[in-house]
Amino acid sequence: MKFYNTFNLNTVNVETIQAEWLFDKKVALDILRLDKIHSVVSGNKWFKLKYYLSEAASSNKTTIATFGGAWSNHIVAVAFACKEVSLQSVGIIRGEKPAVLSATLKKAVEYGMELHFVTREEYRSKETIKQKFADNSWYWINEGGYGRLGAKGASEILKVTDISTYSHIVAAVGSGTMLAGLLLAAGSQKVIGISSMKKNVLLEKEILHLVAAEKINSTLQIIHDYHFGGYGKHPLPLIDFINEVYSQHNLPLDIVYTGKTFYAIKDLTEKDFFEPGSRVLMIHSGGLQGNASLPLKVLAF
Ligand SMILES: *Cc1c(COP(=O)(O)O)cnc(C)c1O
Repeated sequence: MKFYNTFNLNTVNVETIQAEWLFDKKVALDILRLDKIHSVVSGNKWFKLKYYLSEAASSNKTTIATFGGAWSNHIVAVAFACKEVSLQSVGIIRGEKPAVLSATLKKAVEYGMELHFVTREEYRSKETIKQKFADNSWYWINEGGYGRLGAKGASEILKVTDISTYSHIVAAVGSGTMLAGLLLAAGSQKVIGISSMKKNVLLEKEILHLVAAEKINSTLQIIHDYHFGGYGKHPLPLIDFINEVYSQHNLPLDIVYTGKTFYAIKDLTEKDFFEPGSRVLMIHSGGLQGNASLPLKVLAF
């Protein structure tokens, strides 16, 4: 499929973070820079979408339809990916149509996505929406790309680099699809998810639902303490932290996912969560386009 050729995985690299807080605890931290895949369709989205798109194409669907909010990385990734493989795309967007579209939705429209705004109330019942738009030529992808094919795609993230020397793999969690994929592909490593949502108690169940129990070699741990007030919340301490990381390590993080994850790794390291000698691989899952929701100059990059 043409989509696969558009993205050059050669741009992805692994960067080692040098910092006293790591050195003090004898912990090594590397970052898998999936954010470098593409400025808009970055990170895990490319991996999560690929098998949905090929299934849609092979079952002769002409349109991909999916769900998301005004700043959804998933929405804009679907729009772009569909343009690349010449499928139509439809985005069902949570909330009334605003007078001015968000930067994310503007991009999605630019890539050819047709947007339908539904009230928050309506948005909750996805099945009703699907029935309303019922069309045989449409292929539906769950919100956030949640599902087994998404996890299958995400499992390929760990093929990008040799993971054999790591003891822990740490990644941000939204729907849990990426984490399910990491769990499928990891070997002896512990897989640690940092939830960007507040008290998402069903998460573990939803992740395990995507992976056959016998395929799990690793141990899974989800940490719920670093949501900074909830999904999409980005109080000043988080913004300050993201700016600090950028100035010290030249590493851009996003405000919804990876900023919280990096913060968690630092805090957990300082609290002796990782044993001395641990080698941690953080997945930089992208999402930088969402930083455009902030006023100019709040972030240093
Ligand atoms: C979508 C996204 C996630 C969450 O992935 P899930 O598979 O939904 O858990 C994490 N990080 C970034 C940057 C994302 O855009």
